[in-house]
Order: sequence, then C-alpha cells, then structure tokens
Amino acid sequence: MTTPTVHGSARDRAGELVRALDPRSGSLGSVLGRVTPVDAVGVQERVASLQKRSIKKASKVWALNLAISMIDLTTLEGKDTPGKVRALCAKGMHPLPGDPSIPHVAAICVYPTFVADAKAALGGSGVKVASVATAFPSGQSFREVKLAEVHAAAEAGADEIDMVIDRGAFLAGQYGVVFDEIVAVKEACGQAHLKVILETGELETYDNIRRASDLAIDAGADAVSGVANRLGIAPIDIWNYRKPIYNLQGQNTMGCMSGPWIRPLAMRDVFEMRKLLGPEPHINGTGGIASMPDAVQMMMCGADTIGVCTETMLRGFGFLEKWMKALKAYMQKMGFQKARDMRDLLLPELKSAAELTLWAGYAKVETAKCSGCGACVEIGHCDAIVMIDDVAYVDPALCKGCSTCIDICPTQSIAMVEGAEAQR
Ligand code: SF4
Ligand code: SF4
Repeated sequence: MTTPTVHGSARDRAGELVRALDPRSGSLGSVLGRVTPVDAVGVQERVASLQKRSIKKASKVWALNLAISMIDLTTLEGKDTPGKVRALCAKGMHPLPGDPSIPHVAAICVYPTFVADAKAALGGSGVKVASVATAFPSGQSFREVKLAEVHAAAEAGADEIDMVIDRGAFLAGQYGVVFDEIVAVKEACGQAHLKVILETGELETYDNIRRASDLAIDAGADAVSGVANRLGIAPIDIWNYRKPIYNLQGQNTMGCMSGPWIRPLAMRDVFEMRKLLGPEPHINGTGGIASMPDAVQMMMCGADTIGVCTETMLRGFGFLEKWMKALKAYMQKMGFQKARDMRDLLLPELKSAAELTLWAGYAKVETAKCSGCGACVEIGHCDAIVMIDDVAYVDPALCKGCSTCIDICPTQSIAMVEGAEAQR
C-alpha cells in the first residue's frame, strides 16, 4: 500500500470550479460568501409542520422499486466480522427472499477492512460497496493516515468512499484546510466515487451546513451526506428515569448514534442541501430513518439514497422485508411508476416563515358561526383578535394578514377580506 501524493487533476479541476464561480478573484472565501443565510426560526417551524403534513395524492408519484434500490445497507460496528458482512450482502442482494421482482439495494457500506469480503460476496450482483474512511467518524487523524486509508479501501475494490470532514478546522474558519483535504481524498479515491459526510450535527448553524455543502461539491465531491452520527439523548421514562429505555452497558447514555429523534433535523439538512446544490449531486439521506414512510419523506426532501443505521443496531436487519412489502403495497395503491419521480417533491411545497405570503386584506369573523371556543385569541403573535361576549372579533388595523386564525378555527368562521372591500 502506498500513500498517494496529492496533486494533478482533482486539484486542478477544483481550482477551475472555484474560479468559474467567481471569475473576479477565484478565492475560496468569495465562493463561500455567496451562500445566503438560513432563517433558523423558519426552519424549526417548518420542520414541525412537515412532520404533521399530509401529502396530496397528486404529489405522491414515486416508485417502490427504485426506492429500494436507493438504500445503503450499513454495518459499522466494532464487532463486525466477515461472516456478518457476508450475511448483510445476501440480504442486500435479495431483500425479500422468494420474490425476485424486488430489486437489490444500492450498496453495502462497511469499514475498509471488510471491503474485499463484501466485494467477493456481492460478485456481479450490481450491488456496490461503499466504505467509510478518513478516520470515520471523528475524522481526527493525520492527513497522510486518512489518505492511506482511502487509497487502501479503493484498492480493495470500494466503489464509493465515504469521508468525514474536519469539523474542528471548519468551525475554526479554516475552510482552505477542509477544501484541500477533500481535494486530496478525491484524488486518492481513484475511480471510486467520493461522498462527503458533513456531520451537520456538529456544524452548529444552518448557514454552516450550507457553506460546507458548497465547499464539498466545489472541492470535487460526487455526493454529500448530512449526518453520520449525532450525539443525542434518547427518550427517558420520567417515572423511572434511572432505568434506561435504551440500554447500553446498563446505563442511560448519550449514544453515538442517530435515531428517530433527530429525523426532523436530518430531513431539513437534506432539504436545505438539495435546494442549494440543485438536481445533480447525489445526496444520501441519513438520520433516524426507522420506517418505510420515513424513507419516503426523506426522498421527498431531496435524497437519492437512504442510509439506515440505528434501526439495524437496535433491531437487526429483519425490518427490510417488512419495508419492502409496505412499499410495494403503497406503490400499487398510489399508482407510482418510479422513485426518482418522488425525489424533491417537497422542495417547491415547503416555505420558510420569511417566504410566506401575507394577505393584502384582513381577517373577519362571521359572528353567527363563531362557537366562542377561543382558539383564535390564543395565537401567540396576534394582537388583532378579542373575545366579546363569547364571540371573536378582529381589529382590521392590527391584523397582519397571516391567515393563522383561518387555519385553526374549528367552525370555519373566519375568512380573509381582500381587494376593494378591504380598502373601506
Ligand atoms: S376559533 Fe373560530 S369558533 Fe373559536 S372563537 Fe375564534 S372565530 Fe370563534
Ligand atoms: S390573520 Fe393573522 S394577524 Fe390577522 S387576525 Fe388572523 S391570526 Fe391575527
């Protein structure tokens, strides 16, 4: 095994990309400077609403088979063995034994030492081998060690290298260090594709996530991924808080795993990256995917493939067969043709709070229909509504036209007054 030297085509291509983005100076700072700020309050509100939202039937045109073929089936455990990797490969090639109409998954993801085992087990099945590298998951090692690991994994036959960025350097503002490392890793990949895992949970702000996405693609990444692992606090039984629901070494623990509780944020990460990067880069959506509907929602937010990790750690790989059946039934019922049609469906749908359109008029209560429930006066941001003798009234001068009261009124008593009538 030889450590690759870093020069030549990948670096040149990355330099050309940077200059193409800003022909005036060609500086990395100017590339990152074009990243627009993210409305964090709007993000949180929209994540919450996304969880409750039902998708209109017309927007649900997607396909089961491609959805299955987008999965990266992963095992990244200290107790992994060649036998376990071979068993995972068998599951990936035949997700639903006995039903040959179900396609194989996209890839099996393993540590570098198991790439050759996975490659041999998968043969000519078409299932790719992805390998984490660059001192995954922390990324804390010497650059020459990381490059040697990437080179070794690629030489062993990996079709894709999954690297993690140096979050410490990124957060310190050393964007050039991160950029150079991605360029170097891309060079070391040879023919293998490079996915850059941003570890968005450690990037602290949505603006940083945008910057890191841009930087990774400009440095030559073939795909970016938001989350690998994020330290999270699992649900606690408040009546017996010392007894862990999630038992690791018999203790409540902040585990190095993702899990369902971070899924809304992971979906938002993918959504934000897809909006910023456009349709071309491949995005692997990971973070708390624990059911077939979770996977579908992640793809609607912009993911090409789905990473499933914590679910396998907690419950093994038996879920796949159940998901296949559920997806197949869902697809047949909805009449979906292919999964690629489903990707990005939520992009034009979801708006941040800042993007919402305020009505030009004001809200008006049809007093005869008002039940006096009081729901509309409890809206936190609204000073326009008052209750008089158990009937709601809106002061047109104070109404901002947000339409929240119209959405929540259980008796549909409120409507927006617009146009000439609103001028009186
Ligand atoms: S929410 Fe509707 S029904 Fe309830 S008080 Fe307001 S206007 Fe009346
Ligand atoms: S439209 Fe918005 S601002 Fe106007 S009354 Fe309803 S909740 Fe208040």
